[in-house]
Amino acid sequence: MKILVVNAGSSSLKYQLFDMDTESVIVKGGAERIGIPGSVLTQKANGEETVIEKDMPNHKVAMQLVLDALVHPEYGVIRSMSEIDAVGHRVLHSGGDFDRSVLLNDEVLKICKKNAELGPLHMPANILGMEACREVMPDTPMALVFDTAFHATMPPHAYLYAIDYDDYKKYKIRRYGFHGTSHKYVSQEAIRYLGVPAEQTKIVTCHLGGGSSISAVLGGKCADTSMGFTPLAGVPMGTRSGDIDPAVLEYLAEKKGYSVADCVTYLNKKSGVAGISGVSSDFRDLTKAAAEGNERAALALDVFAYGVKKYIGAYVAAMNGLDCLVFTAGIGENTWQVRKMICDGMDYLGIRIDEARNEQKNDGSIHDITADGSRVKVLVIPTNEELVIARETKELVEG
Ligand code: ADP
Repeated sequence: MKILVVNAGSSSLKYQLFDMDTESVIVKGGAERIGIPGSVLTQKANGEETVIEKDMPNHKVAMQLVLDALVHPEYGVIRSMSEIDAVGHRVLHSGGDFDRSVLLNDEVLKICKKNAELGPLHMPANILGMEACREVMPDTPMALVFDTAFHATMPPHAYLYAIDYDDYKKYKIRRYGFHGTSHKYVSQEAIRYLGVPAEQTKIVTCHLGGGSSISAVLGGKCADTSMGFTPLAGVPMGTRSGDIDPAVLEYLAEKKGYSVADCVTYLNKKSGVAGISGVSSDFRDLTKAAAEGNERAALALDVFAYGVKKYIGAYVAAMNGLDCLVFTAGIGENTWQVRKMICDGMDYLGIRIDEARNEQKNDGSIHDITADGSRVKVLVIPTNEELVIARETKELVEG
């Protein structure tokens, strides 16, 4: 069975074609600058990269170009589109209407459109991706895999905000959480590695990338997560503030002459470690600058690591214990300095890492950085959100 995984952003459309018999990637690629002059499609297969520069005014044209590239006689990988058995779409928000992945149909699309206002930065693009795919492959079954779905098991005391309950009901204002496919994948990999029944495990997963979120995974199910109503909440991120006193908004608006929308943009785009450091949102730049003596870069790293550390502590309390701490995504998998800063001084909670193992570059498999004798296992697990989407699509299509 071959499954195409599609991740549509506002001006991009990334894809991977999986052979599900071996769970291997046949081809991966992406269209960039959709609707912007200079659009380009890049496809990588069999170690070779093909770059196609072509005008892509919208997602439908981009999707058609992707399909053309997949079946191209020179650099294509399949003979005809009919070889694609199903498509899995990454979708940001289920709006609480779906607690798992679903097959796409008119009714589901309608619900997604209704929920678009809950994720204004991502949902319109996700919907364009679904519509474009349906137009160019009308007979191929499609599944939607939501970033929020893994968090649907959170109990009310974890997902409710302390606001008027009627407003929660009416406007759906609550914690949803994001990066769900990643938290699900790495927690399942960790459970497999631990070799104990899922029900007996207490895991904290740290997805640390451009956006970062921490989850408490109790008995294999999400018990709490740091992102909230939107992906702006939780730990500080590349350019996002993470948790902040909401009264700052009014003060900021007054001081800088901002509208509410301006304030949210400021917290999304001009804050985080980029805002503190004035150097970059990229942790490679920050660790380099800090090592060269840049104090604000060092401060940004401190604020980030401290933010993550506090969430880990909170989730150990929430679960009354911890068996395994997992790091994943760009920073979690690569930036050993940050892993060290987070784990230092947590021996009281049974967390100790082996410094030499921590500094080793990971080779794409599970990397165990636990110090000998540490009560809690500390693992670096490369995330694979696309594989989760392909697996769930396969499951749904096979019924
Ligand atoms: P996203 O998918 O959310 O954009 P990623 O998971 O790719 O983000 O993470 C990006 C972050 O990971 C950046 O801050 C980057 O500096 C950091 N990072 C550190 N080392 C590496 C590396 N070797 N490769 C990629 N990202 C890295």
